[in-house]
Amino acid sequence: MDSPVDANSPPVPFIDLAAQHGPIADKLIAATTRILDSGQFVLGQEVADFESEIAAYCDAAFAVGCASGTDALILSLMALEIGPGDEVITSPFTFFATAGAIHRTGATPVFVDIEPGGFNIDADAVADAITPNTRAIIPVHLFGQTADMDVLWRTAVAHDIPIIEDACQAIGATFQGRRTGVLGKMGCFSFFPTKNLGGAGDGGIITLDDEKLAQHLRQLRMHGDTGGYHHVTVGLNSRLDALQAAFLRIKLVELEDWTRQRIAAATDYDRLLSEHGLSDRITSPVTFDNRRHVFNQYTIRVAATDRDRIVTSLRDDGIGCAVYYPLPLHRQPCFHSLGYPQGSLPESEAAAAEVISLPIAPGLDSVARERVIDRLAAACGGAACKQRRAA
Ligand SMILES: *Cc1c(COP(=O)(O)O)cnc(C)c1O
Repeated sequence: MDSPVDANSPPVPFIDLAAQHGPIADKLIAATTRILDSGQFVLGQEVADFESEIAAYCDAAFAVGCASGTDALILSLMALEIGPGDEVITSPFTFFATAGAIHRTGATPVFVDIEPGGFNIDADAVADAITPNTRAIIPVHLFGQTADMDVLWRTAVAHDIPIIEDACQAIGATFQGRRTGVLGKMGCFSFFPTKNLGGAGDGGIITLDDEKLAQHLRQLRMHGDTGGYHHVTVGLNSRLDALQAAFLRIKLVELEDWTRQRIAAATDYDRLLSEHGLSDRITSPVTFDNRRHVFNQYTIRVAATDRDRIVTSLRDDGIGCAVYYPLPLHRQPCFHSLGYPQGSLPESEAAAAEVISLPIAPGLDSVARERVIDRLAAACGGAACKQRRAA
């Protein structure tokens, strides 16, 4: 077997936020002082300025900041008055929050399997899942690449059902040249620290073009207050902090550069995987035509029988990696009552058994990338590693 990490090969962390903040630390500290001096900590001008900048970035008319990506999803559903008895179609292969938000409103998540060869909802299969109770479709742009919005949009229009994008992992991604956030009725983003644009804590935002809906969202995030402590509907307490907005405004300036670094790293990983002759054992992520993939994750697939062993081997060698996500949502214990047996959504179940996400955060240099693939090749090199594409 290959030797474990040696002194000349430093570990490669999965993500290193301190390294990301280093070059902009002076600006972040100055912003902290400015916000402390202002005494305005929740919403206010800083948040309003950030909302304008995100709206401009996404080419949306409006943006409404809130406390998290999860809340962005919940608020979007609430704004459409979706609740008990309603069904919302989404992907089972996503972070829990997508379906958790649907459940929180009282509505029922309806899971449609992912497309073979990709990680997003099978857009062609969505129409078959629509019933008279379907009130929204939430595609998730998983790992930084959009779902097939063309097909989804046509289905949504044909049935007059709104699309809410879960764009939490895909800020700056595009479909046919249009950015996420305006590919449906509303776009939901998260500023959790590990997202492509992350704060120093929780945060989220909703982008949209509909002014009335934007106003409604602004009320809903403040307990449904229509002004002067007058409440026609019951909302949430879900606001964005001024401090987060100030940090995010500084980081938004860097976002395009960071995104380019992610894309370059992904291209380099693709090259290294093929140069190491790993293409038959490892499936690298596919970028579809007409889409800009922003690589919140670089997620490979290996044989299910080898996956956990490879993950352990990489970690033993000091290579950070993660399994996003090991159990699809239709198989989560909390959703057993929805009645999706094992095998009911086979593409999602296969993906959950085969995926490994490799380090891709900005700042990951070529030496680190080569080391990741070198250690991956070593982990895959043993006779125990089966040919993934035997047929
Ligand atoms: C991160 C994430 C969320 C939730 O965002 P939070 O800010 O953590 O609440 C929702 N959906 C997806 C796909 C995510 O990756």
